[in-house]
Amino acid sequence: MGFYDNFLTETHRMFRDTATRFAKEEIRPHVDAWEEAGEFPRELYFSAAKAGILGVGFDEEIGGSGGNAMAGVMVIEGLMQGGSAGVCAGLGSLGIALPPIVQSGDQNLIDRFARPALRGETIGALAITEPNTGSDVAAVSTRATLEGDHFVVNGAKLFITSGVRADFLTTLVRTGDDPHGGLSFLVIETNRDGVTTSAPLKKHGWWASDTAEIGFEDVRVPSKNLVGAEGSGFFTLMGNFQNERLALATYGVATAELALNEALRYSQEREAFGRPIKGFQVTRHKLVDMKTRITAVKTLVYQIAHRMEAGEFLVEEVSMAKNLAAELAVDVCFDAVQLHGGMGYMRESLVERLSRDARLLPIGGGTQEVMKEIIAKQMGL
Ligand SMILES: Cc1cc2nc3c(=O)[nH]c(=O)nc-3n(C[C@H](O)[C@H](O)[C@H](O)COP(=O)(O)OP(=O)(O)OC[C@H]3O[C@@H](n4cnc5c(N)ncnc54)[C@H](O)[C@@H]3O)c2cc1C
Repeated sequence: MGFYDNFLTETHRMFRDTATRFAKEEIRPHVDAWEEAGEFPRELYFSAAKAGILGVGFDEEIGGSGGNAMAGVMVIEGLMQGGSAGVCAGLGSLGIALPPIVQSGDQNLIDRFARPALRGETIGALAITEPNTGSDVAAVSTRATLEGDHFVVNGAKLFITSGVRADFLTTLVRTGDDPHGGLSFLVIETNRDGVTTSAPLKKHGWWASDTAEIGFEDVRVPSKNLVGAEGSGFFTLMGNFQNERLALATYGVATAELALNEALRYSQEREAFGRPIKGFQVTRHKLVDMKTRITAVKTLVYQIAHRMEAGEFLVEEVSMAKNLAAELAVDVCFDAVQLHGGMGYMRESLVERLSRDARLLPIGGGTQEVMKEIIAKQMGL
């Protein structure tokens, strides 16, 4: 029995095995080309749905794959064996775009948006961030004004994962003036008149996931596309962030594990001064420190997933795990590149990509500083 296995059921292991097999067969052989191209084929959504992993965390009765928080951790861990956080993020954008729709219980929205996305036929993205505001969600200014049975939307969203190819955007819009209570979710189809989508934004990492800026100019959206009650957007989003941050913490651990494996392999193969570089104590200690930190953070992530699955709402712990895992990934990747020497700086090395991809983790889904502010609030500071 592995060190973490006491948290896992047969079903959890099945999710991980399926995702790992999928990553090794469907992603890994093509990943270098997809990274350079800045996208992966749309058919991958369909094959992931067919494999039973695209809809992890969503009920089978609406077309999901079932499972809960720990199953989500398992699928990310498995998919990361493909060697690209960008592919995982692109494939996983429905994991943040659909929960507000599904939780609203609105059958019309579920039929029109959730079911096709879970079948891998359409792409959904979550649109919160704007050119003038990211961390300060209450400053979102994209406005949706009700005119008869339509909202008229004006504004812009920035850095939207899967935004270039998305068929619909679960969009945070301002329907009222109260900073928090004036925010609502509205599903906006991207083929509506007045929606403009940028070319894929060029990024430091996550190359295989497309990222867009999206403009809205007098876009008419039927009022039946409103998700849940008007004014409920901010509070829905706070719930959504829990799963997103657990997912990002899992990316961090999985990234660090991949980097450690690469560093272990290279330090056995590479020789300097007449011996494998693992023969230097400083190298061994580096590898030991990586493994030690990974073990600690992974244990925390599994413990949180296990308790979230039991229904606990762990705001403070999720924020801590997200920060720890992000720092872990950045640090371990730095050391893994260092252990590879010049080869670590080359695009042909997996650690080169991992180190770029890792840098997103302290920024996306709430920055490191914002996580600390959340934790401080929970501590009563
Ligand atoms: C590759 C990528 C993919 C993304 N995907 C999506 C997506 O799919 N959907 C989406 O909506 N967004 C997405 N984002 C946006 C991401 O969530 C934001 O970039 C992030 O929340 C930070 O917002 P910002 O960039 O506006 O930074 P800002 O909020 O402008 O922050 C700038 C700096 O100020 C600091 N700061 C801000 N407020 C405080 C404070 N109160 N105390 C201390 N420091 C503070 C921040 O920590 C940061 O260091 C993505 C971003 C990237 C890079």
